[in-house]
Amino acid sequence: MHPVYAAFHKRSIERRDEFWGAESRRIDWRKPFDSVLDYSNPPFARWFPGGELNLCHNAVDRHLADRGDQPALIYISTETGAERVYTFRELHAEVRRMAAILRGLGVAKGDRVLLYMPMIPEAIFAMLATVRLGAIHSVVFGGFASNSLAIRIDDARPKVVVAADAGMRGGKVIPYRTLLREALRLASSKPEHILMVNRGLDAGEPVSANDADYATLRDAHLDDDVSCEWVESTHPSYILYTSGTTGKPKGVQRDTGGYAVALAASMEYVYAAKPGETFFATSDIGWVVGHSYIVYGPLMHGMATVVYEGTPTRPDPGVWWKIVEDHKVSVMFSAPTAIRVLKKQDPAYLTQYDISSLRHLFLAGEPLDEPTARWIAEGIAKPVYDHFWQTETGWALLTGLPGVGDFPTKLGSPSFPCYGYDVRLLDERTAEEVGPSQKGVVCVIPPLPPGCMSTVWGQDQRFVQTYFTSVPDRLIYTTFDWGVRDSDGYYFILGRTDDVINVAGHRLGTREIEEAVASHPSVAEVAVVGVADQLKGQAPVAFAVIRDASQTATPEMAAALEKEILGVVDSLLGAIGRPARVNFVKQLPKTRSGKVLRRSIQAIAESRDPGDLTSLDDPAGIEQIRAAVAHSSGRGA
Ligand code: AMP
Repeated sequence: MHPVYAAFHKRSIERRDEFWGAESRRIDWRKPFDSVLDYSNPPFARWFPGGELNLCHNAVDRHLADRGDQPALIYISTETGAERVYTFRELHAEVRRMAAILRGLGVAKGDRVLLYMPMIPEAIFAMLATVRLGAIHSVVFGGFASNSLAIRIDDARPKVVVAADAGMRGGKVIPYRTLLREALRLASSKPEHILMVNRGLDAGEPVSANDADYATLRDAHLDDDVSCEWVESTHPSYILYTSGTTGKPKGVQRDTGGYAVALAASMEYVYAAKPGETFFATSDIGWVVGHSYIVYGPLMHGMATVVYEGTPTRPDPGVWWKIVEDHKVSVMFSAPTAIRVLKKQDPAYLTQYDISSLRHLFLAGEPLDEPTARWIAEGIAKPVYDHFWQTETGWALLTGLPGVGDFPTKLGSPSFPCYGYDVRLLDERTAEEVGPSQKGVVCVIPPLPPGCMSTVWGQDQRFVQTYFTSVPDRLIYTTFDWGVRDSDGYYFILGRTDDVINVAGHRLGTREIEEAVASHPSVAEVAVVGVADQLKGQAPVAFAVIRDASQTATPEMAAALEKEILGVVDSLLGAIGRPARVNFVKQLPKTRSGKVLRRSIQAIAESRDPGDLTSLDDPAGIEQIRAAVAHSSGRGA
């Protein structure tokens, strides 16, 4: 391990307060904090208690004096053809207007504002305006359907929902307004107001009798001044839901001060990015990457950020590199799945544009396979960094650090533990640290560094129970990922330890999908597993037991039922959770205590050895899975 890296990391752990105290100077504080960390109630870490600040001030207002006329937000939609650059001054004006609208609708400090929006500038205005008021945003990814949205509405109980009539993806209209209307029918919590951005894409019915129209209200508040509400460092800035082992998503709660400091430091150390440059994260504001690196990180660092609505291949697969050329992007952040999509296209697209401004590309969200890493690194002739993180951490946990030093990378490895994280690989059974090349669970000795989740929204006990109880009698944070470390100290991530799968960089609990499949009246029981997929990394595959086997008597009947079930999943979870295939079986393989052997099912579906089957209750269950998999490969699956 490089001595410069090792010394930097060691200092961040062993002289934690001094390290983060120095980093805290990167941001503006209205009132200085009393101490760097209050860890008197483990595992709850209160970073910079006593300090007061505002995230929107740090992202926008603070830059007005020095870079008011520089680009802040570069909006490009290859779906509608819209393009617009907002300077920091223009962004400030729009955020003030949005804040005035929200304030007029009754939003005050601590209230929740739920956003269900496509990648349009108004979505970013709404996020910034919410934190400007000291309120808490909860952005729900547009790919989630009504039922998933309703669950999130009921958990966050927002005062206002900000939505758009529609989004577009690949030329197809996604009717957000209609989906929201249905979600509100299902939800028991009713927001006081719906603020609607009408893009003229979908002429559906209004959500409520008195939907507020954004354009009208914007005109009414053009020159309103809304000052920042200074909040405590530990005040929640947002809630972001993520899938776990149980069916119900968890609201990851983020603080304000720790998050601001963590992101500000990462802009230099992780991304080696400079103020005045352009950052392009290809994610979506519905995900944590979008929160941290489309919105807050780059803006706090005084950079322009690209807000892109579109796919990587339209109008042609050179579109991202054209954006790099046009806007002199210096740092790009994407996901392995997007690169695998590009890999299927003509590699000439990679060299069609002048991308000399680009310093490097970061990829995260799922395992980055070696061939994909090599293909893109050679194709764009730039360093490519794999980095590992989670919604929970808010920023990278394992990563290369080009801003700290020129440390060599290894293909397929997210390098080393990031500063601030005391990472250990622990044996699943003994909780002892494993040696080089031995598989262990990636864990962190708390306190978690600034920027990581402070708790599960409204459920402190669930936070402790979910993340800190896997090692008996010790508080240790588990990531639920397997990893190994080679003899040079490089980490490699091997996949999840729980029932979470990663589809095209999106995290889904198999339980959520199982619940959706099982809600079809014909389904008696179902197991969903993630199966390796060339493009998406993993794809969900369902094995369902049908109440009345005569319903699948002919291949045509089975196909019709499969289609119906997929339709149910679409309506409950959205296409994002749709299984690649529903296989019908007479029974599932179970242990004698009745647990479904998901790991064995997954192994068979991936043509691997199902492993230890001694606990199996009835061998017929496994035979059923084998037969179904053989049959579906016959169908070209
Ligand atoms: P999310 O919270 O949706 O960002 O998903 C986090 C999960 O994605 C992690 O727990 C890992 O399973 C996976 N993940 C994220 N980044 C990487 C990476 N660089 N390599 C392997 N897996 C990753």
